[in-house]
Amino acid sequence: MSESESVLNPPPAAVTVSSEASAIVPQVALKVRRALPFFARHPWVFEGAIHHIKGDPQPGDAVQLRSDRGEFIAWGLFNPDSNIVVRLYSWDEQIPLDETFWSARLDAALSLRRDILGLNDPDGAARLVYSESDGLSGLIVDRYRDWLLVQFTSRALASRQELLVRLLQEKLQPRGIWLRTEKGIREAEGLTLSDGTLTGNAPDRPLFIQEHDVRYGVDIVEGQKTGFFLDQRDNRLLASGVLRGPKVLDLFCYSGGFALNIAKAGHAKDILGVDISESALTMARANAELNGVGPHIRFEKADAFKYIEELVKQGERFNSIILDPPKMARHRKSVPEAIRGYERLNRLAMMLLEPNGLLLTCSCSGHVDQMMFEEMLAAAAAGAGRSVQILERRGPSADHPTAVSCLENHYLKCYLCRLI
Ligand code: SAH
Repeated sequence: MSESESVLNPPPAAVTVSSEASAIVPQVALKVRRALPFFARHPWVFEGAIHHIKGDPQPGDAVQLRSDRGEFIAWGLFNPDSNIVVRLYSWDEQIPLDETFWSARLDAALSLRRDILGLNDPDGAARLVYSESDGLSGLIVDRYRDWLLVQFTSRALASRQELLVRLLQEKLQPRGIWLRTEKGIREAEGLTLSDGTLTGNAPDRPLFIQEHDVRYGVDIVEGQKTGFFLDQRDNRLLASGVLRGPKVLDLFCYSGGFALNIAKAGHAKDILGVDISESALTMARANAELNGVGPHIRFEKADAFKYIEELVKQGERFNSIILDPPKMARHRKSVPEAIRGYERLNRLAMMLLEPNGLLLTCSCSGHVDQMMFEEMLAAAAAGAGRSVQILERRGPSADHPTAVSCLENHYLKCYLCRLI
């Protein structure tokens, strides 16, 4: 690939106009008084809102959403096999879902990361497309150096795979595009995708990326999530700036993200990372060596929920603790149980912290909102008998934006707290 046409400097897209607009399009008519969220650009139409369907749309076909009075609302893609029967993309009747449209949507997403956020390090990694947040419900694209990892979370966009992959290839010229499908999505959406190379070469395993001052080996084929927790990028930077040792605990450490940043900043001599996944810890140990901080970090394989209790029993003390557990509330009805889990973890962590200690505590459960999380922190502090100050309320890095029309996508909370 030439210097001027690369992942970072995309060439202008070739544009062809499809006939999707001119064909007679099926229409999905809403029930009375159900149109408001869709006029406000919420992209998910569930079956319960639909009154009837005119025409015979097939899975993946473009449809028009109309109110009970027949007003045009939006263009969407149809999938009768999903809970989300129509996903909406264009709110302008004159702009149908043709190649020009998808190309412009991708350009808008790429421009945010490249031109506004400056996530252009050729050795770096970033989320380039984040589904509803980028007006592309059902598509996730992550860049790891010069490879792309694509995930379809909707059949609607999966049925445009060829087009979208061609556009990504033209715009970014990656060395390869790898397809990965999250567990449960095939069933939820009626998808028949298998993981593998879509274009170019299969990714190196591991693939080495740079983030801040730290290099990481990443396995985008089998690593958790899409191989790396890109959403915590800025929070790892915060940790490297403010968390102090000498003793630091990184619970749920995965491949060492937070621990390595603190070690590399030279702020702690005795860092303990704990995770239940052997493969994550293998990467974490290799990453510590890669960054020359091996002597300052120990990694242990354990169930962190039990391990933290042991640490309290043994009278251990730490100067800083990171808590970054996996998603604990998958559904709205599991929120009370998740809150109890968070409260226990945070209470025990607070008990382990020295006076003036810092706690970086996270939740990636979208169903647990900011208010619930703060009330949980208050209960945990009361249980631990400690005074706790919130210093910062943070979310994911800006390459994981939130569309105000679809707040459901905002899941990550990260709080920096000080214990007195
Ligand atoms: N902080 C990490 C991301 C953590 S993701 C980073 O910056 O990269 C959550 C981690 O929790 C995963 O690595 C997962 O393996 C681990 N995990 C899940 N259940 C666990 C348990 N019961 N005990 C310890 N670790 C667990």
